[in-house]
Amino acid sequence: MQNLSNISVIRDLLTRYGFTFSKALGQNFLINPSVCPRMAELGGAAPGTGMIEIGAGIGVLTAELAKRADKVVCVEIDSRLLPILDETLGEFDNIRIVNDDVLKVDLHRLIEEEFAGMEVAVCANLPYYITSPILMHLLEEKLPIRSITVMVQKEAAARLTAEPGTREVGAISIALRYYCTPSVLFQVSRGSFMPAPDVDSTVIRLDLLPEPAVKVRDEALFFQTVKAAFSQRRKTLPNCVSGFFRLPKGEVTALLEAAGIPATARAEQLSMEQFGALCEALYDHGL
Ligand code: SAM
Repeated sequence: MQNLSNISVIRDLLTRYGFTFSKALGQNFLINPSVCPRMAELGGAAPGTGMIEIGAGIGVLTAELAKRADKVVCVEIDSRLLPILDETLGEFDNIRIVNDDVLKVDLHRLIEEEFAGMEVAVCANLPYYITSPILMHLLEEKLPIRSITVMVQKEAAARLTAEPGTREVGAISIALRYYCTPSVLFQVSRGSFMPAPDVDSTVIRLDLLPEPAVKVRDEALFFQTVKAAFSQRRKTLPNCVSGFFRLPKGEVTALLEAAGIPATARAEQLSMEQFGALCEALYDHGL
């Protein structure tokens, strides 16, 4: 097995295959040898488990997952990497590379066909240009998976894992917490990548909840409510919600009161339960 964290090995591979990094595809490959084993372990790669990876690069994380799990399926969009992966991962018989855009793959079908009888988890060093769309896609699909362990940009990690009621919280933090419990695992410096990006990174894990965090009658309205509440960062809820849903401010104030939320509150002060209560009040109002 080649040492895929070794810069000379990587340079040799890239030269032999004439590969050049695509910035547009978020191609920063890991060269810090301690990161991938740690991600694989904390991501739950173990006997009896099937792992989904997004973006193989030259296969440095894929190999660590394959050493520990029963099977790994990796969705990689860039067909130029396929011959490289044939070489670097050639010795494994439990890896399948799917050459596609992860946002277009039928993941339910993939899990059914590839991971029968296994616990399934996602583990990936995500392409940063589509971090939130990928995470929301994985969660909205309600896949039968246990957890999602991903490396993301440090600033994105702060937003994704922010607790309700704190200054860092945003619409994406609340949307995520509807489906899972997020936690920060460890930090990774920009020097751990080739080429080095302009930002540092953080590995986070999202542990899927058996049931959504709050019970609402209309899930789509819950996400609209969250979007509305955060639509104007410095304004109070009556302004945000009335502007977003085109409702008179007085009506929104009454709805907030019915939901037990002070009219002076801002979105970052609300708990998950209060977002749920506001959604239900809007539902009862005919939205
Ligand atoms: N796992 C490798 C590593 O850690 O070195 C590569 C990580 S690199 C940050 C992101 C990878 O995602 C690249 O290989 C890129 O080609 C791939 N990628 C980008 N957009 C994608 C998409 N929409 N679907 C699947 N893979 C994608």
